Amino acid sequence: NPSHGGAAAKQADELLGGLLAPGMDRRSCRSRYQAVHYYKHFPYAPSPHLLDKLRAYEARHRRCAPGTPLYNRSIEQLRSGRSAAAADGVECNYVVWLPFDGLGNRMLSMVSGFLYALLTDRVLLVDLPQDSSDLFCEPFPGATWLLPLDFPVANLFGLGPRPEQSYTTLLNKKKITVIKDDDPPAKNDAAVPPPPPAYVYLSLGYQMVDKLFFCGNDQRALAKVNWLLLYSDLYFVPSLYSVAEFNGELRRLFPAKESACHLLIRYLLHPTNAVWGMVTRYYNSYLAQANRRIGIQIRMFNFASIPVDDLYNQILTCSRQEHILPETTDDDDLTTETYNNSNGGNYTAILIASLYPDYYERIRATYYEHAASGGAAARVGVFQPTHEERQATQRLFHNQKALAEIYLLGFSDELVTSGMSTFGYAGSSLAGVRPTILMPAHGHRVPATPCRRAVSMEPCNLTPPRVGEEECRRKAAVDKEDLARHVKVCEDFDRGVKFF
Ligand code: GDP
Repeated sequence: NPSHGGAAAKQADELLGGLLAPGMDRRSCRSRYQAVHYYKHFPYAPSPHLLDKLRAYEARHRRCAPGTPLYNRSIEQLRSGRSAAAADGVECNYVVWLPFDGLGNRMLSMVSGFLYALLTDRVLLVDLPQDSSDLFCEPFPGATWLLPLDFPVANLFGLGPRPEQSYTTLLNKKKITVIKDDDPPAKNDAAVPPPPPAYVYLSLGYQMVDKLFFCGNDQRALAKVNWLLLYSDLYFVPSLYSVAEFNGELRRLFPAKESACHLLIRYLLHPTNAVWGMVTRYYNSYLAQANRRIGIQIRMFNFASIPVDDLYNQILTCSRQEHILPETTDDDDLTTETYNNSNGGNYTAILIASLYPDYYERIRATYYEHAASGGAAARVGVFQPTHEERQATQRLFHNQKALAEIYLLGFSDELVTSGMSTFGYAGSSLAGVRPTILMPAHGHRVPATPCRRAVSMEPCNLTPPRVGEEECRRKAAVDKEDLARHVKVCEDFDRGVKFF
């Protein structure tokens, strides 16, 4: 039945090649079904192995979600203070994601935490503060991902990077035992090791307190802990590849390494209807008619601030170098020609995301004062949805607007982003676009190279753990040459690493 086949194909399309589970309520989360119509690029289909893994994850999540008997049992065990052996009927293990830093950071650490849950057969729960309460839809069918309010560990938002239960503290106090490759065998059958703690707090943010997390033997010890609390503002996926236990599985999940964040973010994060309303109203009013959409994301960090004119010039120099923004011309013949084909096909929309209005004003003025080259039919529109002036992560409405802009960037054909900004990284991964990255002005000096074309759409892992075999006390087990072929120093930060 061809019409049936057509419907099935349409549904597969809408579900991003099977990435999204079918059967979820359309009205309560419209973006989940509609976003597909707005994305410009679909560079990678999900691998069959990723699809299997996601469906298995969803089944596990349903079995272990808050409100289920298995969840209740795990909570009892947590209250008891000790991790339980599977024999006690505790089947479910969890990663609890905690908020840290701005929205881009949060999105990337959520994606990283979710992938870690996929790799370790855990269930991801998130503890969202009020400022994030209406940003993302429930991602998993038939069960919540929200951590219940009566979760027994107190003050989860205030623990910071070095609490009592941090992995490193527990190791130092010998409350958790890791057997290293070079430990004498006697140690293995010596005194009974201490029972694993009920929960471990992982601080994997820019300070990278618990870097031994990225060692294979430590992962084996952590596998015995039922509850992991994840505090991170990083995209730490590239560092998981160097753990031998995960390496093979990751290659099967993502045959194209640069597709990891792209596919995971499209799977996991869907803006709620409140945010989606902003996104679609803006897109349909200002961007839909264009044949080419260029997203420009401008972030000015305190550690790399330069005057507006300098950054504006950097953007122009970059644009000329990489042929991004339409050129302008002062040819009077062109500018005085009458333009009468309003449906004509050369309309470029430039979307600016920035906390400040200055770059928008300058770019808009440029195309007002000069004609775009390419004939009389060449039109350029310049748009900026908000200019919030300063980051205000504690305010829900501010975060909703920020998320709307990340999605609008995600619908671009091409992107120019600011170096070291997770906001820009999230936009590029969502879009499936290798962005042109403006170099940060380290030391407040205008960079000699204005920008670089990214080798991949993957975010940079800005604080890789820097643990080698020596520190992990592990004999090499990962194919280093393969790793070196696919991990490189980030374009915008020489201490960061990324996939390509
Ligand atoms: P990063 O600091 O650039 O890595 O990105 P984050 O998203 O983690 O933190 C920056 C925060 O500042 C965002 O989450 C927003 O709250 C705000 N912000 C920065 N740039 C923009 C922007 O272009 N538009 C909006 N609406 N907010 C922004």
